[in-house]
Formats: sequence, structure tokens, C-alpha cells
Amino acid sequence: MECVNREKNFSECTCSYPGCERKGMCCECIRHHREAKEIPACLFPPEAEKTFDRSVRKFVEAMGS
Ligand code: SF4
Repeated sequence: MECVNREKNFSECTCSYPGCERKGMCCECIRHHREAKEIPACLFPPEAEKTFDRSVRKFVEAMGS
């Protein structure tokens, strides 16, 4: 089934990782990172997002500074 929100999600996605087929598919993005014990790009501040490090450790570090 095609996601009816994909175009809108895609236009608002703040992930700068190139070529990811999950962009705009927030449910798949969250599932992917949750299974890897990670956090999706959109929850990171911009500078931390650009590192592509989606670890919980990086998130805590970024949000604590
Ligand atoms: S956060 Fe990860 S899964 Fe989500 S769009 Fe970016 S690279 Fe893809």
C-alpha cells in the first residue's frame, strides 16, 4: 500500500543522508532505527544530524550541550 503522506513527509524530512529509500516513510524510518537501537535523524539538532551518527549516545550528547 502506498503511503498517502509520503510527499508531505518527504518535503519536511530533515535527514541529510543521501540515497535512503526510507525518506518520507516515517514508519519505516523509525522501525529501522529502533531495531538498530538508534534514533531517527529528524530528532537530532542540525549539526549533530550531519554526522550521520544516530546512536543514543550521540543524541544524549547533542541534546545535553
Ligand atoms: S534517518 Fe535513517 S532511515 Fe530515516 S531517512 Fe534518514 S537515513 Fe533513512
